[in-house]
Amino acid sequence: MKMKSLSRRVVITGGGSGIGLIMAKRFAQNGDQVAVCDIDSKRIKEINNLPLNILAIPADVSIPSDMETFKEMITSEFGGVDIMISNAGTAGSAGPIETQAFSKWKQCLNTNLDGAFLSCRWAAETMKTNKSGLILLISSTSGLFGVPNRSPYVTAKWGLIGLAKSLAIELGPSGIRVNAICPGAVQGDRMNHVLEIESKATGRSPSDIAKNFSMGVSLRRFVTPEDVADMAIFLASDAAKQINGQAIAVDGNTERMV
Ligand code: NAD
Repeated sequence: MKMKSLSRRVVITGGGSGIGLIMAKRFAQNGDQVAVCDIDSKRIKEINNLPLNILAIPADVSIPSDMETFKEMITSEFGGVDIMISNAGTAGSAGPIETQAFSKWKQCLNTNLDGAFLSCRWAAETMKTNKSGLILLISSTSGLFGVPNRSPYVTAKWGLIGLAKSLAIELGPSGIRVNAICPGAVQGDRMNHVLEIESKATGRSPSDIAKNFSMGVSLRRFVTPEDVADMAIFLASDAAKQINGQAIAVDGNTERMV
């Protein structure tokens, strides 16, 4: 099975930390040309100062003008994009629907969905010219189940699967594959934050919620950012050339989320 490939131009949104940064490092180690954007300009500076061979640019994925500038910089540096990974996402607020602020709902959808829309639109434009390409949308197991008290995030992550399935049909004839990756609960700072907001919304302790999460997974464990990066590397390889329009869970098999 051929996993290593010729240098490709890889763009990852929200690549300043977590899963996005691990994916960026893996593609760069593979010899690909990698660029990331992130809303956190401090992280962007840190990445540009590290010997990682990753081009990091500050941009908010939900702001069209930021994405336009990011696109212009990548077009000038790389000449185009072969692999677009729309990864930037925020957990959104947690709580019963009647307590959810409209502004927070919008904020969650803006980052998770508007960011993906702008990334896909850019990718399709350049990939169609090349008659090849791969778009990966980082959804979640929250895009496969209903989860009480997490309506903004769950809605956004289901939306990403709809986007992946629609674009796979639309762009397939142009040689472009589109898939969604659905990570389960991933170890790290972000999951700690999710446990905290759920704890506030439900009154249960973070450790109790974490235990309940893992008991709903057949393998009884959280996944790592590296597990998600492994899937992205596989989907970008020749071995995955027939995989299109799929929502692929990397989660140890989620049986339930409540
Ligand atoms: P993370 O918070 O560690 O990383 C997300 C990155 O996105 C951060 O660097 C953040 O600054 C950046 N970001 C946030 N809003 C942005 C914006 N508007 N524009 C540009 N960058 C922005 O989180 P993570 O765990 O690495 O999550 C990455 C993706 O994986 C997200 O889409 C998330 O929903 C998804 N996911 C995470 C988990 C998990 O348990 N951590 C599970 C399932 C899915």
